[in-house]
Amino acid sequence: MSGFICPVCRSELERGEHSYKCRNNHSFDISAKGYVNLLLSKDMNAKLPGDNKMMVNARAEFLSKGYYSHLAEEMSRTVAEYFSGELILDAGCGEGYYTEEIYRSVREKTEDIRLCAVDISKFACAKTARRFKGDICCETAAASVFHIPMADGSADVLVTMFAPFCREEYLRVLKKGGCLIMAIPGENHLFSLKEAIYDKPYKNETADYEIEGFDFLEIRKISRKIFIDNNEDIKSLFSMTPYYYKTGIEGHERVNALNRLETEAEFEVIIYRKK
Ligand SMILES: [Zn+2]
Repeated sequence: MSGFICPVCRSELERGEHSYKCRNNHSFDISAKGYVNLLLSKDMNAKLPGDNKMMVNARAEFLSKGYYSHLAEEMSRTVAEYFSGELILDAGCGEGYYTEEIYRSVREKTEDIRLCAVDISKFACAKTARRFKGDICCETAAASVFHIPMADGSADVLVTMFAPFCREEYLRVLKKGGCLIMAIPGENHLFSLKEAIYDKPYKNETADYEIEGFDFLEIRKISRKIFIDNNEDIKSLFSMTPYYYKTGIEGHERVNALNRLETEAEFEVIIYRKK
């Protein structure tokens, strides 16, 4: 039994020790790291899609130091509160830092839970799968959030954190009445970092909270100051942001010269219910 379906023929997948198989004999190997690759070549934009190894490692290193632990706590508390049913999908799980916290928190409430995590980056999947190795309730697959290998109406809760948003696909995989729980950067998130890089930094724009097909339930804003006292962590943080690719050489040089940073880590956790 698997929460995933065959990406080729969309029939159920059976999870074996070394591979997943459907009744039409499509077979998908489980990698040594513990994740299954359900990406079809047509879903890939590049040879190695998603975050590369350097980015995944930098983020894992940064998050492991607890700078964003307030977000992990808020997300896991929120998911545990809203979860009922059996299946949670983490769409765009990254290296699994939040996924693991969420799973642990829901497990404290109920043992009746299955978790499916997908990410388009195989490096990210490898890190996530390692956290859940040996736990048959958790599955990790390399897949696109735009083509999630899961049946219609199969997820009770869908978690999306800083990942691409695909409304139609999220509506499809969620059960009627299921919850979408999303985390996005708050207005002042990393403002001091932007001040250090740009001559004219801008605050993040606040979103319009209405999403077609969903009822908006509530928003939880969390914020705290983080202190970073070394350049390595500052560079890791910078590489996690969208600014990393948008910033010119001068901006990168400014980041390379920063050895101390005090900045806001501000997030919004937004909860919706599928109509
Ligand atoms: Zn198949």
